[in-house]
Amino acid sequence: MKHILIVEDELKLACLQADYLKNAGFNTTCLSNGLEVLSWLKINATDLILLDLMLPDRDGLDVCRDIRSFSLVPIIIITARIEEIDRLLGLELGADDYICKPFSPREMVLRVKAILRRIEVQTNPVINSLLKLAPDSFRVSSGEQAIELTSVEFWLLQALYDQPGRIFSRSKLMDLIYQDQRIVCDRTIDSHIKKLRKKLLDLLPEQELIHSVYGAGYRYEPRKRVIE
Ligand code: CA
Repeated sequence: MKHILIVEDELKLACLQADYLKNAGFNTTCLSNGLEVLSWLKINATDLILLDLMLPDRDGLDVCRDIRSFSLVPIIIITARIEEIDRLLGLELGADDYICKPFSPREMVLRVKAILRRIEVQTNPVINSLLKLAPDSFRVSSGEQAIELTSVEFWLLQALYDQPGRIFSRSKLMDLIYQDQRIVCDRTIDSHIKKLRKKLLDLLPEQELIHSVYGAGYRYEPRKRVIE
């Protein structure tokens, strides 16, 4: 049974989270104070942490940094402000996902499951060998098939592909691919991603590789395409 650590100082909310996770088949532990988290993690193991940002004694951002100094355990940050997400991504905290308050507990359970599934995907060598990227020719191949990308499309794919599951904001992607500080707008990234997705679909029609994350950016995560 997988274990989830809930770090939340609002007792009622923490209980609600725990109830839903237990019903979904998880073990849980609730901590209400940022300071307790590190000492708890040094003697206990968990599969994922739900971390509220507004905590007494030690701020959630600091707790996240503390954890990342010694552990790669998946972290979902919970924040009350959606407009904060872009800033949080920019801080490079190493969190795996973000949930905005107020949230539906059902949605929270789905996000937890998605992250845990993603971890399995990342450690699955079959899925990880789906693509081969050739930087000298901007070609991407899968088995015998290959497609040609533009340089921008290639570097976008390379950035996302190198860190599967990680959310990249549009501004982060712009920084990565336009080193010459050219002035480009968010829409430019969107249109490159759109073309890139279309080409990847020609290569692997059954896979959805690049996903947009509402209000946040893009992530690479191979998933079987659902035909609707
Ligand atoms: Ca709080």
